[in-house]
Amino acid sequence: MNIVTTINEWQSLRQTLTKKVGFIPTMGYLHQGHFSLCERAQQENDITVVSIFVNPTQFNQSQDFLNYPQNIERDIALLQEKHIDYLFLPTAKAMYEDQYSICVTETELSQELEGEYRPGHFTGMLTVVLKFLNLIQADKAYFGEKDFQQYLLIKKMAQAFFLPTTIIPCKTIRMEDGLALSSRNVRLNENQRKLASFFPKLLHSQLPLNEIKNQLEQLGFKVDYLVEKWQRRLAAVWIDDIRLIDNIELRNNLV
Ligand code: AMP
Repeated sequence: MNIVTTINEWQSLRQTLTKKVGFIPTMGYLHQGHFSLCERAQQENDITVVSIFVNPTQFNQSQDFLNYPQNIERDIALLQEKHIDYLFLPTAKAMYEDQYSICVTETELSQELEGEYRPGHFTGMLTVVLKFLNLIQADKAYFGEKDFQQYLLIKKMAQAFFLPTTIIPCKTIRMEDGLALSSRNVRLNENQRKLASFFPKLLHSQLPLNEIKNQLEQLGFKVDYLVEKWQRRLAAVWIDDIRLIDNIELRNNLV
């Protein structure tokens, strides 16, 4: 695997790549959710590029940024095992030469759900994704349905700005007990991890929404939102200071 750390190096290298490029942007601390996107990219392209960048502008709470799990040595070893061709590791300084004075703001879809509870999050996310899509010049870029509102916004941005990269959604990968894989799960202690398994269970249940919310709250979750839209049921909850999000497709998915 070729590890590229500067934008100049990547841009000159990119000019030499003539085959199909698949791209997976991540914030690292990689897990099987990320690798499922990598596998799909490897099946559909000749060259696979992964980026790891913990994007400071998309964190609305500085503590969340500071707590974000990182282990770059481990990530590099895992990506090598998976035969990824390029790992792009730019610095925040290089990604934000403009000091974040230029950004991408969506004004409708980004205002609700995650956008309501994490002000500024989607502007930071869209801005960095646009920078990455412009740099990588991929044929296809892969995003998880776990962050469904994020996927919708990226797709909308790609259409609005006529980006040549096709945005591909990929299914959510879960643990055996149903918990969606997430880098943040590593912060759950044993008791919190046990409690977390009730989140996907209740999300998949046939109970009315208000009853699901009641049960989550009785178990000790704090519920930011639990709604049905886009033919999905989407929710964000807190276990103490750890925030979990998840969503399921509504058709055929209720148990
Ligand atoms: P992150 O590193 O959390 O920013 O995630 C990078 C990409 O992996 C995003 O497109 C996420 O939606 C996707 N992703 C994260 N967790 C999962 C999961 N459990 N299943 C599928 N995709 C995921």
